[in-house]
Amino acid sequence: MRMRIKDRSGLERQSKEFLAFARSYLSDAFPNPDRQGCPPEEALQSLAVNPSESQATITEHIASCSPCFRRYSELLTDVQLQRTADRPVSWKRIFGWSRTHPLMVGAALACALFIVIGVRLLWIRFSVPNPPPLETHQPHNPTSPVNPVVAYSPLSLDLTNISPIRGSKPPTTGSQRRVRVPGSPLDLTLSLPLGSEEQTYSVSLKSAGRTFWSKSAKAHLNKGQILIRVQADFRQVPADNYNLEVESAAGIRLVQPVSIQVTLPNGTGQKP
Ligand SMILES: [Zn+2]
Repeated sequence: MRMRIKDRSGLERQSKEFLAFARSYLSDAFPNPDRQGCPPEEALQSLAVNPSESQATITEHIASCSPCFRRYSELLTDVQLQRTADRPVSWKRIFGWSRTHPLMVGAALACALFIVIGVRLLWIRFSVPNPPPLETHQPHNPTSPVNPVVAYSPLSLDLTNISPIRGSKPPTTGSQRRVRVPGSPLDLTLSLPLGSEEQTYSVSLKSAGRTFWSKSAKAHLNKGQILIRVQADFRQVPADNYNLEVESAAGIRLVQPVSIQVTLPNGTGQKP
């Protein structure tokens, strides 16, 4: 099944040309302004997300309804955007799906081919920087999806009362209050004790000698306070107790115990 590298670029070019034709054809060939006989949006979504569990009738409909084809293309784009972030597209699954639908012959087979190539082209499109835009004959396409911008919510931590530790001495954090920190993208502002130097510090999240997150950032004097501002994305950090350590180049550390909290995946809130 695996293609040789030298065959791939030629095939990808052919696939692109074929898909450009297929797309422009399917996008316009079957106007259905009243959306007669169209499946519900959920059915298109489910086909985009999980082709193996969708009905062949939906696929066949898409092959003969331009509005549904265009909507399905948009949904596929969304799904592929999400999946390319996680793992390569599973071609075995997609090919397996066409095998499990032996009735998909003739026109329906052509449709399956469009979709398989569509998935592939979308994958190529989002793998290649600055790809040529896909031609559609729509006057404008206001909803072209892009990677969602990560929203960093501001969080300030006051480290001004923490006694600095020198060298590799283990932190004595027993008397310190553990601060709850959401496991989400954060715009962290750390206030350092008065007299801290305006230099670059290493900010890290550690537990039992393991570093779960780390970034370096420069401290600045702002209205009488020494502040470090750093963007921290704690979504990949398991919810648990950690030490947030701020370490200078000279090896002087400030250690703040924190507890990373589970946040809901859609970012609407966090568990108390
Ligand atoms: Zn339709």
